Amino acid sequence: MPSEFDIIRQYFIPTESRADVILGIGDDAAILSVPEQHELVQSVDTLVAGVHFPLETSPQDIAYKALAVNLSDMAAMGAEPAWFTLAISLPDADETWLKAFSESLSKLAQEFNLQLVGGDTTNGPLTISITINGFVVSGKSLTRHNAKVGDKIYVSGTLGDAALALMEYQGQCLVQKESLVYLRERLNRPTARIELGLLLREYASSCIDVSDGLLADLGHITERSRVGARINFEEIPRSEEFNLNLTDDALITPLILSGGDDYELCFTIPLDKQNEFETIIKEKNILVTCIGEIEEAAGVRCIKNNQVVDVKEMGYQHFTD
Ligand code: ADP
Ligand code: MG
Repeated sequence: MPSEFDIIRQYFIPTESRADVILGIGDDAAILSVPEQHELVQSVDTLVAGVHFPLETSPQDIAYKALAVNLSDMAAMGAEPAWFTLAISLPDADETWLKAFSESLSKLAQEFNLQLVGGDTTNGPLTISITINGFVVSGKSLTRHNAKVGDKIYVSGTLGDAALALMEYQGQCLVQKESLVYLRERLNRPTARIELGLLLREYASSCIDVSDGLLADLGHITERSRVGARINFEEIPRSEEFNLNLTDDALITPLILSGGDDYELCFTIPLDKQNEFETIIKEKNILVTCIGEIEEAAGVRCIKNNQVVDVKEMGYQHFTD
């Protein structure tokens, strides 16, 4: 059985080093150099087996999701990811599991030029806690507190896919075989919208990643910005696979409005920047959709068939568990 140090050496020390890592894994702490005139943006997210993912999830998917949800926080802040640490609690030193986990982790890290610079390895129920660090030019971070009345509300990608995948996984609905791979990927391998986040620094007045559901997360923006929001249900983007597999309106509405785990970005664009933003987004071929507008009256209102959706009636509570 490998020791803690064998595990770290064998699975977690990266082969290449970023120039701004003065000292990586191996000492009591890492030494890192933040570029001049930049601020350090930091976030931590923990995944607990059986709580944040089903026990039988593959090590590749667990690693991917643990890092992707952290990358998503960087995207939501408009930060360029740079380094991360990994605190992992393992029930045993299963080398097959560790190999698959660490390969998937380093593959995703490499895609974003992100370096593992330290961590902690302990024995216990499977838990993965990643702290991620990135940079933004001082004062340019995207936050939740600057949305203004009249700003347009956008979301990236499509919503509801991850929640639909989870329902299918839990045996609460059936989906067509051809859709299963796509939907499972949306749940297990969320796409961190880093490129979009970086672009939004020039355009957005506020931004958040949708991890708990659109209404809840847009609600964080409106609360922090002391404004309200109106969104149009019909404009909220859905995937073909979602539409193909879900036709029961009583399920569609709560999944779209309150389904979690999509990790898309929800953000606001001031009117005077909207045209330029739309032009550049088309050039870069990034999918974003305007779904509504920031208003003065507090709260988030969703209009569907010319009526305000009654959030409680549609089972909102159930999906915020
Ligand atoms: P200490 O005793 O000072 O806490 P450790 O023995 O826990 O140090 O870790 C030794 C080195 O290995 C440290 O640099 C630490 O950051 C790193 N490390 C430990 N676990 C991990 C891990 N899971 N991933 C990456 N680096 C790790
Ligand atoms: Mg330690």
